[in-house]
Amino acid sequence: MLKKLKFEELGLSKEVLRAIADLGFEEASPIQSEAIPVVMTGRDIIGQAMTGSGKTAAFGIPLIEKVDTKQRIPQALVLCPTRELAIQVAGEINKLSKYRLQIPALPIYGGQPIERQIHALRRGAKIIVATPGRLCDHLERNTISLKAVKMVVLDEADEMLDMGFRDDIEAILKQTPSTRQTLLFSATMPAPILHIARTYQKDPHIIRVAHEKVTVPAIEQVYYEIESSRKADLLTRIIDINNPKRVIVFCNTKRRVDDLVHDLHGRGYSADGIHGDMTQQKRNRVMDRFRKGTTDILVATDVAARGIDVSDIDIVFNYEIPQDEESYVHRIGRTGRAGKAGKAFSLVSGHEMYRFRAVMRYTRANITKLPVPSFKEIEEVKTNKMLNTVRSAIQEKNLENYAQMIECLLREEFTSLDIAAALLKLYLHKSQPQPKPQQERAEHSSRDGAPRRQRHFNRR
Ligand code: ADP
Ligand code: MG
Repeated sequence: MLKKLKFEELGLSKEVLRAIADLGFEEASPIQSEAIPVVMTGRDIIGQAMTGSGKTAAFGIPLIEKVDTKQRIPQALVLCPTRELAIQVAGEINKLSKYRLQIPALPIYGGQPIERQIHALRRGAKIIVATPGRLCDHLERNTISLKAVKMVVLDEADEMLDMGFRDDIEAILKQTPSTRQTLLFSATMPAPILHIARTYQKDPHIIRVAHEKVTVPAIEQVYYEIESSRKADLLTRIIDINNPKRVIVFCNTKRRVDDLVHDLHGRGYSADGIHGDMTQQKRNRVMDRFRKGTTDILVATDVAARGIDVSDIDIVFNYEIPQDEESYVHRIGRTGRAGKAGKAFSLVSGHEMYRFRAVMRYTRANITKLPVPSFKEIEEVKTNKMLNTVRSAIQEKNLENYAQMIECLLREEFTSLDIAAALLKLYLHKSQPQPKPQQERAEHSSRDGAPRRQRHFNRR
């Protein structure tokens, strides 16, 4: 098992811990658990971990902790290969630093008017996130001084070298004090990276997030490619089609758990969330309801799920792809216990695909891609279910009283087909309040005091 620590174990300031709590991160990812304590001691590191493993916070958090809040000049510099990454990394750092630093980290990249950046620099950002090309322009114009920089991060170093930034990177490093701390992150370690490391780092501590071998449970695994914003919709569709008794839906953050539970309630599903922020008492209550079948859907984070001992889970959903492959295996191991057939469904958004491919390589499992079921298919499934219900009601007999009522209508010269169709229409409208269209969903989530329609999909 990869080492994962609680953020509280990392010796961080209460301001940063509070920001982490706001983001809903439940525990530090493996690269964060390894890197943060070492970087806090001031040592250089080389970090190798796959995309999506949380490298930004791995260097961002120590950067935020180590800058001097009184000095209004650049003290930390992050170099990124692209403008998008520079914006994204600065954004993540700002979320983490919001209670500690008044002046946000400043992204510096090509394509934006340089005057605007010069103006922004005067506000006194302590952390700069830059693409090498644009930073060199500033250095040539003397509009940025790197003389107070204590920490430099080369993020996605292999990517930067591939893009031909080698000379720029070296020019930049030469303008920073030689006493600086240098952090290098790269997915791969080709010779040019090692050369940079040798030339510009001091005895770097090397961190590679590697995995042990695992046995992947033999259960049916499938995935869907779907935009994040449509995941809740797809989740409920799959649930409607499969009609499972008990499912666990995994999310990566506590925030996401709460949001999804809220969303599911709005759609009329009985769901409960469980995560590390809840008191033991509350967790017990949630688990009780889930065990008894009062709730059908348990939305959980990895941490909370570790303590769960419920054996007959029909489906495990990966609502978000976990940050390390081992978690995937732990998650899906929740289903298919005691010789029962289980299923694991992963909902993969575009930017999660890279991480999911790593999961597939790691598990060497045959994970089949399924097309997103259409509205029509779902209607068909529902209709079939409905007709079966009618068939079994006919077979059960005991219909005399009802038959008399129908005779009344028949005497009014309606045909039996008309009557049956009308009854079916009334029945379907009553029993199927699934809010699919947008306006209906808005109506559900509005808190207008109207009773919320709770639907138990295992009791239809
Ligand atoms: P990398 O740089 O390794 O590709 P990122 O730093 O961009 O990965 O992180 C990927 C995603 O994971 C981001 O959305 C980030 O907010 C989220 N994330 C980072 N750390 C954690 C954590 N400890 N728990 C949950 N989510 C996290
Ligand atoms: Mg990154």
